[in-house]
Amino acid sequence: MKNKMLQFTDLDQQNPTKRETEKRKTDFNEIYKEFINDKAKEQSSRCSQCGVPFCQIHCPLSNNIPDWLKLTAEGRLKEAYELSQSTNNMPEVCGRICPQDRLCEGNCVIEQSGHGTVTIGSIEKFITETAWEKGWVKPLAIKKELKQSIGIIGSGPAGLACAEELRKSGFQVTIYDRYDRPGGLLIYGIPNFKLEKFVVERRTKLLKESGIKFIQNFEVGKNSSLEGLRKKHDAVLIATGVYKAREIEIEGSNLENIFPAMDFLTASNKKGLGDNHKLFDQGTLNAEGKNVVVIGGGDTAMDCVRTAIRQKAKSVKCLYRRDRENMPGSAREVSNAIEEGVEFMWLSSPNKFIGSTKVEKVEVSKIKLGDADASGRKKPVIQKGSEFQIESDLVIKSLGFDPENIPKLFNQEELAVSKWGTIKIDLKTMQTNIDGVFAAGDIVRGASLVVWAIRDGRDAAVQIEKYLESTAKKIKAA
Ligand SMILES: Cc1cc2nc3c(=O)[nH]c(=O)nc-3n(C[C@H](O)[C@H](O)[C@H](O)COP(=O)(O)OP(=O)(O)OC[C@H]3O[C@@H](n4cnc5c(N)ncnc54)[C@H](O)[C@@H]3O)c2cc1C
Ligand code: SF4
Repeated sequence: MKNKMLQFTDLDQQNPTKRETEKRKTDFNEIYKEFINDKAKEQSSRCSQCGVPFCQIHCPLSNNIPDWLKLTAEGRLKEAYELSQSTNNMPEVCGRICPQDRLCEGNCVIEQSGHGTVTIGSIEKFITETAWEKGWVKPLAIKKELKQSIGIIGSGPAGLACAEELRKSGFQVTIYDRYDRPGGLLIYGIPNFKLEKFVVERRTKLLKESGIKFIQNFEVGKNSSLEGLRKKHDAVLIATGVYKAREIEIEGSNLENIFPAMDFLTASNKKGLGDNHKLFDQGTLNAEGKNVVVIGGGDTAMDCVRTAIRQKAKSVKCLYRRDRENMPGSAREVSNAIEEGVEFMWLSSPNKFIGSTKVEKVEVSKIKLGDADASGRKKPVIQKGSEFQIESDLVIKSLGFDPENIPKLFNQEELAVSKWGTIKIDLKTMQTNIDGVFAAGDIVRGASLVVWAIRDGRDAAVQIEKYLESTAKKIKAA
């Protein structure tokens, strides 16, 4: 029989086609079309099945990529799905929004040899979407219900992954979240054109059907202290993410119509979900007809500029103080933004915001990259006398996120945090300095990626289970 794999010399790489730019700019639907069965099979067969799979090594979840590619190439999709979901709680989410160019695909051996990577992310999405379509994705069947309960604070990917893993073992799991919907940044941060909301809602519905209890509009710190939750549950996980927007302290920062990125994105996501949003509905947080300036060069900035385009802004400019090669945002997202009409002003930094009550203009300085700093990145140096002004009636600040003051918010001043404010854990046990309290996801790592949050949530579940076993043994022995 002809070998189904190693077809990369005969078959060219093909990604799922993108929707036509002029059309996709007018709506918030995802921009990539689905692979069809034959295309997924064909593209999977390009995998070289190398002995040391660098794709797997560079996937934070150590997904068995070569194996599920082989199964897909052979048309054994149900087995491919079983294997893929055994290491990943949301393969259809990661397939859509992982920065594959920096992770699995960026390390694919055939990419290194110039043939173009296997399109791993799109195949992962295809396998799981097929599983949903065929009804292979089912609520968990719990073999034995256990008495011990775990309270999870935060329903982002870290909290959800941890909850699912613990529930698989039969524990009673309750997730508390201050938002009205579960999903964390998957629901209110990441826009629809990257991740449609039905994908997240379908997952959380499945977890509810698996017996996980969700309590929304419940803010730890207001509705309960951490101590209160700890008394209620046998263990607690903090998975609250990072939400404090970094500020830009320049002249005019207090003018109206200058907003942090999350305000803008949350409003847009809420509208997409059919909610009312006062500031959007009265036009303030709606980019329609406005000259929008976004400050920053990360993925959140890319989401803001592309959201503004879809809201029919008059113009959308992105100011970034380094050059394109040094942007922290995914190269794929930058290209998508350029195709959609965003104007990038590289090597540019805002000096001051100008206006009477509302922002009207931004004064910008040109930047030159100087010597490398301690981290090896070239330092941006302002070029004196290079100032110019651009019109703007909506400015969005996207300079990154820091953790909130969790010990203070949770009325638990002794909870240990790092110098950056992230929660300190013992890296082996994932436990904080408070007995039975664990932490995972962005609140431990700082702003990161969905795939890392899932990994952390899974690791925390293993450690929580160990902790509960050891406390149960201690109680028995006493
Ligand atoms: C705009 C944007 C775009 C992004 N795009 C991508 C991308 O394309 N690919 C990618 O991999 N990553 C992306 N990320 C990063 C990714 O979303 C995060 O790394 C990931 O969601 C972190 O997961 P988490 O579970 O730790 O926290 P979160 O997803 O932030 O979830 C934390 C949850 O905790 C809840 N919470 C917080 N405080 C309390 C409290 N006191 N009481 C109760 N509940 C509380 C919050 O309401 C929230 O639901 C993006 C981030 C942003 C902001
Ligand atoms: S989870 Fe992310 S990094 Fe891992 S295989 Fe999937 S797309 Fe690649």
